[in-house]
Amino acid sequence: MGLILTALVVFLISDLLLSFFGNPGATTISYTEFNNQLNKGNITKIYSKGDAIEGTLKSAQPKPDGAKGEYTDFATQRPSFANDNLWATLQQQGIEVTATSPVVQQRSFLANLLLSLAPMVLLILIWVLLARRMSGGLGAGALGRKAPPKPVVAEAGKRTTFADVAGIDEVEAELTEVVDFLKNPQQYRKLGAKMPRGVLLSGPPGTGKTLLARAVAGEANVPFFSASASEFIEMIVGVGASRVRELFAEARKVAPAIIFIDEIDTIGRQRGAGGGMGGHDEREQTLNQILTEMDGFTGSEGVIVIAATNRADVLDPALLRPGRFDRRITVSPPDREGRAAILAIHTRTVPLAGDTDLGRLAKVTPGMTGAELANLVNEAALLAVKRKQDAVNERDLSDALEKVQLGAVRPLVMPQEERERTAYHESGHALLGMLQPGADPVRKITIVPRGRALGVTLSTPEDDRYSYTEPYLRGRIIGALGGMAAEQVVYGVITTGAESDLEQVTNIARGMAGRWGMSERVGRLTAVPADAQGAYGLSAAPTTLDAVDEEARRIVAECYDDAVRLLTEQRARLDALAAALLEAETLDEEAAYRAAGVPRKASEDASEQASGDASGEA
Ligand code: ADP
Ligand code: MG
Ligand code: ZN
Repeated sequence: MGLILTALVVFLISDLLLSFFGNPGATTISYTEFNNQLNKGNITKIYSKGDAIEGTLKSAQPKPDGAKGEYTDFATQRPSFANDNLWATLQQQGIEVTATSPVVQQRSFLANLLLSLAPMVLLILIWVLLARRMSGGLGAGALGRKAPPKPVVAEAGKRTTFADVAGIDEVEAELTEVVDFLKNPQQYRKLGAKMPRGVLLSGPPGTGKTLLARAVAGEANVPFFSASASEFIEMIVGVGASRVRELFAEARKVAPAIIFIDEIDTIGRQRGAGGGMGGHDEREQTLNQILTEMDGFTGSEGVIVIAATNRADVLDPALLRPGRFDRRITVSPPDREGRAAILAIHTRTVPLAGDTDLGRLAKVTPGMTGAELANLVNEAALLAVKRKQDAVNERDLSDALEKVQLGAVRPLVMPQEERERTAYHESGHALLGMLQPGADPVRKITIVPRGRALGVTLSTPEDDRYSYTEPYLRGRIIGALGGMAAEQVVYGVITTGAESDLEQVTNIARGMAGRWGMSERVGRLTAVPADAQGAYGLSAAPTTLDAVDEEARRIVAECYDDAVRLLTEQRARLDALAAALLEAETLDEEAAYRAAGVPRKASEDASEQASGDASGEA
């Protein structure tokens, strides 16, 4: 919008300038035509500069090239090879010849100066406009002054409080101290107790970090200044730092207050460590400004900085020093009880039918975060609207869960041949998953195309899993290779459908060899950084990295052999499962185990589940 406006202004101005200073009356004609007119004796005077000629005719002529109207002023260009005796002809006819630039002659010195400066002036103008717009942020007009940062207004009764947060009680408990301090800072001052100046919330996306920060402000009933770190990064160096200064100044004015800086890792990455191109200086300056502001706190102003990040591991250590973000709180995805509580919060305004059971839903949603659960409830509500019900029932919830876990159904008519191949592919994943001792049970298999996948096999763990054994990881690799192996066993050819399987396999195998010390040859060291985008080559010697690669290859090759061998041995079960899948299209846990003829060994009373994952898509 702004750009279009600027372009328009530039266009208008340059148009204006041109019509002022140019010679718009002159019609460009060919040199031949000029010669014709000259020979007819129809020219009164000419100006020439080099080979460019402008002049005036005695009597008007129709414009060339069929254009409408007539002209008397003309311009033309004399070709350098023209061997005519132009000067003699001109003299003969007594035509007045002026051999200076028509431009200089018609324009004053001032106009010329202006014209030559015009492009530069325009550029500066654009630059200033852009700069204003950038630093102005939302709400400030193209030319308007930037408004100082404003706290999110305290709307009584509508503010977020701890009642809106569930499933992360231990985090809440840590933050109540902060709330208490903000409520009566005098108490703390009297006893000389210093509060943490910065609280860093770290955890996966969607676990409620932003929500918590708001809730702290809501509970303490203090102004809440919220900024996303990426907002500070501007094209113009220095703007970020000055915005930080303003933000802190405003907060001090209304203290006690909370400053919330979201996604602090965008500016708080380790300095000097491979952080994107451009904006590097800006990032550093902004970060330094934040640190300086926090160092400037005497500790009794009552301004507390809360920052959030998904990537605490990449943060600059300077941020974590005492006196800065020294209170670090990890926010994890909720456990089962937590999930039930979060579901309860998000269904407060959703009418539920009598048959709904949030406890059951909490049980089958291991690893889901608060945001995902909120989304799940919303999807169910949308379904209920679509189905013209007046309450959300159990079927809406389970359909919504299927959509969230497996992806939306894609209306895609597959040829029978492809369906069969997909059925075998998914059966391969599923059967190997069932046969691996200690592997996560298979929850659902489908050959209905969903999302980007042609089929999905979903297996989620039965219990909490916070660490993994080597046999378990090998089982995961074997299961993920199962689709490819089944295609190999049944058809003898492999299709492109296994790409995402292989990505998963590669990640696990590399991790085993290069990060978790599961390879004798590489040894007990971490050669591959957890940060996949990080500078890969810098972490270990090239020979070590070669060894990691070779070991990962060996592990995968062994697992693939196992997968092919197992499926060849169990061909009857594979065929039976694929047939059942072709028939029903989607099999749930019980039906799948029955069709494959594999006894379901797991104990149904297992309570807690974590880390859901859709292992293996076709
Ligand atoms: P993060 O900042 O950690 O990425 P958010 O705070 O933005 O996550 O969470 C997004 C939404 O998910 C929240 O607005 C809320 O609706 C829901 N949510 C996340 N965690 C929780 C929780 N613990 N309790 C209740 N709702 C939650
Ligand atoms: Mg957030
Ligand atoms: Zn697959």
